[in-house]
Amino acid sequence: MQLACSRRCGGRLFRALFAEVELDADGEYLDHRIAQPGYICLNCGAPAFDLGTVPAEMETEAAEDERASVVMTDILCPVCETLVQVGGEMECPNCGAPLEAA
Ligand SMILES: [Zn+2]
Ligand SMILES: [Zn+2]
Repeated sequence: MQLACSRRCGGRLFRALFAEVELDADGEYLDHRIAQPGYICLNCGAPAFDLGTVPAEMETEAAEDERASVVMTDILCPVCETLVQVGGEMECPNCGAPLEAA
């Protein structure tokens, strides 16, 4: 994990907003776990991000955009006449002939 302030104020202390703290019977802190990501900078109060996870999330969004832009089409294979759903270029699953969506 590498937390960074979204305002880049240079603060090095952060607070996890959704952490569960484990205590013993006397109320002494034992351990904690992050229930869900969410951090603020203790220096300026701005939201903070885990640099380790942000690029991965951005990549996921980009991949979803790409998938949404591919239009799936049903075409008949010119060789074996199998009905194939294609998005972009692919091969006929039946005979292996190259198919291309119109
Ligand atoms: Zn800050
Ligand atoms: Zn075919």
